[in-house]
Amino acid sequence: MHPALIQKQTLPNHERLYRNGAYSFVARTISTASTLPSHAAMLSGVDVYEHGLRWNNWRPTLGFIKTPTIFSLATEEGLSTSAVVGKFKLRHILPQGTVDSFLRPGYFCRKVSEEAAQQIRNGQPELMFVHFSDPDEHGHSSGWLSAAQWQAARECDRCLGIILSALDAAGTLDDTLVIVSADHGGHGSGHSGIRLSDIQIPWIAHGPNVRRGHVLHSKVSTMDTAATVLYALGLVPKARLRGKPVREIFAQ
Ligand SMILES: [Zn+2]
Repeated sequence: MHPALIQKQTLPNHERLYRNGAYSFVARTISTASTLPSHAAMLSGVDVYEHGLRWNNWRPTLGFIKTPTIFSLATEEGLSTSAVVGKFKLRHILPQGTVDSFLRPGYFCRKVSEEAAQQIRNGQPELMFVHFSDPDEHGHSSGWLSAAQWQAARECDRCLGIILSALDAAGTLDDTLVIVSADHGGHGSGHSGIRLSDIQIPWIAHGPNVRRGHVLHSKVSTMDTAATVLYALGLVPKARLRGKPVREIFAQ
């Protein structure tokens, strides 16, 4: 998700979060800007040479992430955890035993968000990862910032709305820290990591004690996502993370 896709068109559900949250549209992913390495950095707080996921497809013979993730740490502490994803290869980051439930209900965000909403209605997990494929798919097939990709971002906004409505209905939206971000941006028909538009990502936080309508001064890295989630949950990483909690999101 290139930040322009959120900033430069009307996306009511994203806007609801950032207008009432703390955000940056100039956050950065790691230089290995593709799905598996970048999501692994987001969920572990370390870069590719530590977490070890250098490849970008489902290759079970290569094994799983080498470092703890926010999910392995939360699961060890007895928190309920769930991942609902559009791409099965993300299993490399969230192997069995590190997350209570890992589901891939469909490729596009509609089925993913409906499953996530159902889980919230059934009893909201304490830590949840929801992954949408649509902008990446349409970026590769039609080009970054093509008409099809702007449309895919609008569809993601509707899917985000399905999840926010479930949180609203459960009465937990204001008690839930919601972070919306992306694994990478792109240019042309891909994302090699060599251009700023490949590594610049949106990063939006909304929730209890989070500042409202605050543009972050801090330089935010995707690795800070893991550190911020652990900080919010009161969990301590077992090894040093490269990411740091974005404490600036919280009101004093
Ligand atoms: Zn891609």
